[in-house]
Amino acid sequence: MSASVIDFVATEARFGAHNYEPIGVVLSRGEGVWVWDTEGNRYLDCLSAYSAVSQGHCHPKILAAMVEQAHRLTLTSRAFHNDQLAPFYEEIAALTGSHKVLPMNSGAEAVESAIKSVRKWGYEVKGVPDGHAEIIVCANNFHGRTLGIVGFSTDPDTRAHFGPFAPGFKIIPFGDAAALAEAITPNTVAFLVEPIQGEAGVILPPAGYFTEVRELCTTNNVMLVLDEIQTGLGRTGKLLAEQHEGIEADVTLLGKALSGGFYPVSAVLSNNDVLGTLRPGQHGSTFGGNPLACAVARAALRVLTEEGMIENAARQGARFLEGLKDIRANTIREVRGRGLMLAVELHPEAGRARHYCEALQGMGILAKDTHEQTIRIAPPLVITSDQVDWALERLASTLTQDFS
Ligand SMILES: *Cc1c(COP(=O)(O)O)cnc(C)c1O
Repeated sequence: MSASVIDFVATEARFGAHNYEPIGVVLSRGEGVWVWDTEGNRYLDCLSAYSAVSQGHCHPKILAAMVEQAHRLTLTSRAFHNDQLAPFYEEIAALTGSHKVLPMNSGAEAVESAIKSVRKWGYEVKGVPDGHAEIIVCANNFHGRTLGIVGFSTDPDTRAHFGPFAPGFKIIPFGDAAALAEAITPNTVAFLVEPIQGEAGVILPPAGYFTEVRELCTTNNVMLVLDEIQTGLGRTGKLLAEQHEGIEADVTLLGKALSGGFYPVSAVLSNNDVLGTLRPGQHGSTFGGNPLACAVARAALRVLTEEGMIENAARQGARFLEGLKDIRANTIREVRGRGLMLAVELHPEAGRARHYCEALQGMGILAKDTHEQTIRIAPPLVITSDQVDWALERLASTLTQDFS
């Protein structure tokens, strides 16, 4: 690391809370799948800011929409109407087939908003006695970092010494429909689940799981809330990951790529009366649904479909997965994923995934380890076949090294 890089890293460490452990690279520019560090080294971004920059870094059309809107009007609050919110609603509802939309900012806020909404629906529509609503979630979930959400996490790091936590959540294993059937009671208002568990290490459920989940939820009048904040908007090769399963959620959560990485924009989408239970004054956000956010999100959704990014994710994801499967390395325990949401899980004896990510950095690829043994690979959805092959060559030579 050069003196200036050491300086940036040291200054962050001196003034910042140490709640992250970044790879030692200081980025200053991005374009499409590429990012550059302060010394001009170029890297293929295989994290995409945890899938928020799916449309590629600094997409020119999203940038133009953002600049144009920033010149006109940025924030009105919801005390007044603005001329971007209605078209945003129309466009996202048409794209996703949803009936109602609640705009928020971060993903965690969308999750919190969904929890509040399904509880309210439970009391006012389903008839659950007040204060007794139960929400079922899965072990190894990741839904964000608020107090409400970490309270039902099973990751000791995210929970330890942050309690006491809110009651009303029941945890079952992911991918186990029988466990869901057993956990549902007359007071169950919702099942909150990721279609593919992202932060847990790109964990896919068994085939047919979501068909059974959908049936159980319908039969028991339980809202199926799919957290598609990471899987949604083309990441898995379909607009929504639920489409792989041939099901429809009652409530869908979007965030991350909803703004193409320009701005925090999230949304709760519902197919039914869940959001209809919210009345004036009962929920809100100063920035939620602001005209700048709406203009950015409209552009981010437009380029996703107009530029064929979802189809490209399916095509390049299949190529990437095949290529990873072809790598013959003793370090690899499993490769898995769907679309461009991929992961390489290493054997415990291979050493920490972090060391492989650092080696990849030296070869011009930025990827992020998760849970010690897993390297996740999620490049922007605009990646080309040549770039996939370029990455595969470097991954192959890194994964055949021994960092144990
Ligand atoms: C990232 C993520 C969130 C939280 O989003 P933030 O914008 O970081 O609050 C929630 N759910 C899933 C599945 C995510 O991947």
